Amino acid sequence: MTGIRASRGQSARPPDEVAPAQSADVVGQRGQRGEAAASPSPGGTAARPPDDVAGPRPAGRGWDYAPAPESREIVTIAAEYGLFLDGTFSPAADGREFPTINPATEEPLARVALAGPADVDRAVAAARQAYEQVWGSMPGAERAKYLYRIARILQERAREFAVLESLDNGKPIRESRDVDVPLAAAHFFYYAGWADKLEYAGIGGASGAGMTGGDGGASRTGVAGGTGGASRTGVAGGTGRGMAPRPLGVAGQVIPWNFPLLMAAWKLAPALATGNTCVLKPAETTPLTALLLAEVCQQADLPPGVVNVLTGAGQTGSALVGHPGVNKIAFTGSTEVGKEISRAVAGTGKRLTLELGGKAANVVFDDAPVDQAVEGIVNGIFFNQGHVCCAGSRLLVQESVADIVVERLRERLATLRLGDPLDKNTDIGAINSREQLDKISALSAIGEAEGAQRWSPPCRLPERGYWFPPTVFTGVSQSYRIAREEIFGPVLSVLTFRTPEEAVTKANNTPYGLSAGVWTEKGSRILWMAQRLRAGVVWANTYNRFDPASPFGGYRESGFGREGGRHGLAAYLDA
Ligand code: NDP
Repeated sequence: MTGIRASRGQSARPPDEVAPAQSADVVGQRGQRGEAAASPSPGGTAARPPDDVAGPRPAGRGWDYAPAPESREIVTIAAEYGLFLDGTFSPAADGREFPTINPATEEPLARVALAGPADVDRAVAAARQAYEQVWGSMPGAERAKYLYRIARILQERAREFAVLESLDNGKPIRESRDVDVPLAAAHFFYYAGWADKLEYAGIGGASGAGMTGGDGGASRTGVAGGTGGASRTGVAGGTGRGMAPRPLGVAGQVIPWNFPLLMAAWKLAPALATGNTCVLKPAETTPLTALLLAEVCQQADLPPGVVNVLTGAGQTGSALVGHPGVNKIAFTGSTEVGKEISRAVAGTGKRLTLELGGKAANVVFDDAPVDQAVEGIVNGIFFNQGHVCCAGSRLLVQESVADIVVERLRERLATLRLGDPLDKNTDIGAINSREQLDKISALSAIGEAEGAQRWSPPCRLPERGYWFPPTVFTGVSQSYRIAREEIFGPVLSVLTFRTPEEAVTKANNTPYGLSAGVWTEKGSRILWMAQRLRAGVVWANTYNRFDPASPFGGYRESGFGREGGRHGLAAYLDA
């Protein structure tokens, strides 16, 4: 997968520093929509901002990338969308709707049905009926055929999904095309393979070969580097044949807006493979790819009621969580809402998995190759505008190399292009909503007020839409809010350390525990760090690598339960 790409050609010369007091709003509000940020050029020069933009300019004047927009023609967006209930689309019972907009332009894309309690009742009843009459008792090999079919259709319609995702979410087409959509299809392929092998998954009293067989080497002490990663949460038993574990029944699944299609796939694929039926609630700001996926379910002839999609806001999610007909809740989103859901579910007998926020440390030692580490830092925090729960939002860099790492990082950031998400050269797209932009702006202002030094590359922000430049804070103390709270935006806090012990202490000094990164040449140090970092995933000399075979999930305020891999099956089985 690609995150933010490596510099094309030679790197640009370092731009001068933007005065710390300069807010993002000052860094050029005057540009045109779709214009690139200060851009790289193979000749090592950066495009010059227009004269009316405040702030210093990068040295040199060179050519810029021509626009390379992906065509919108491949997608037909309807004026209105209904709820996907019992295999068909229908309006909300009370006829309510809400708009969804393109965050890059603020252009309304469609009106979408707003599900109320009566619709939640209908969806849960349809899912229950489908579970009892068709899906729960269907042989795994038959269920697998539907999942393979969905995966193949996703591949066939990949461009359509990618364009729609970028329109509704604001993420660069390069990421939706190369990461979100292929990974979503890969999840359906992966879990289709498990559907008829559940008794071999080591869940529910199976005996056998232990944790190392089969699916990519899960271990308590392993390090996930690339594919086939590791997790610290064991699945009981081994990989020999055991009793066939049973599905739970109806799963209520609530997902966020940062990876709308991919999160839908993470939720639906394991639930369906294990014989559960689903009621999925996408985020209010990004409902369109979940509805297109519903259309794919129709196209794949999935029996009615097996998948239901309820669009709406937090209240719809809350009604689904509280519905007595649901056996399992799977939630991805903020820690605050996760806690609310925990309270609502407590004592009901419903099974629960929570994938919540994070404030991951990306730890760079003095023996790490600096250029590679810089790529990893950029990919860690600026991929998907930093709207990533496992984003490496805290850079912990060894003091002896801090200056050079920060300098190279600034050079690299000056080569990123911000603008039209549908342009294939864009690195940084739009912030998903006005609300999220306000949150990022507010926390960044607090970082400055607390005393950190703020820096962004010279950068023209489009006139309309929601935009925030890549931002780096240096001089950050552990007590600052920008070092403690999940900003969920393209904002990096840089802290330093002297010894490995100090790095571990600082990395673990957070209520979260979702992910971490380690950059060093020494394999022994990687293992030493991985054993001590309190994080569900530890990436070594890489960052933000995902694979369906690799379990993902957190500790403490990052939630519990795992998604992906064999572990992801356990969350949907009564073992
Ligand atoms: P939320 O946690 O509010 O939303 C996630 C999902 O839960 C959405 O579908 C939302 O619906 C739904 N929801 C909201 N309230 C409830 C409820 N009481 N019961 C059940 N479902 C509910 O995240 P936001 O989108 O509001 O983002 C707020 C902050 O959360 C961000 O700034 C970011 O810091 C963090 N976040 C973290 C994510 C992660 O993966 N770690 C993902 C998304 C956000 P709706 O969209 O309609 O409100």
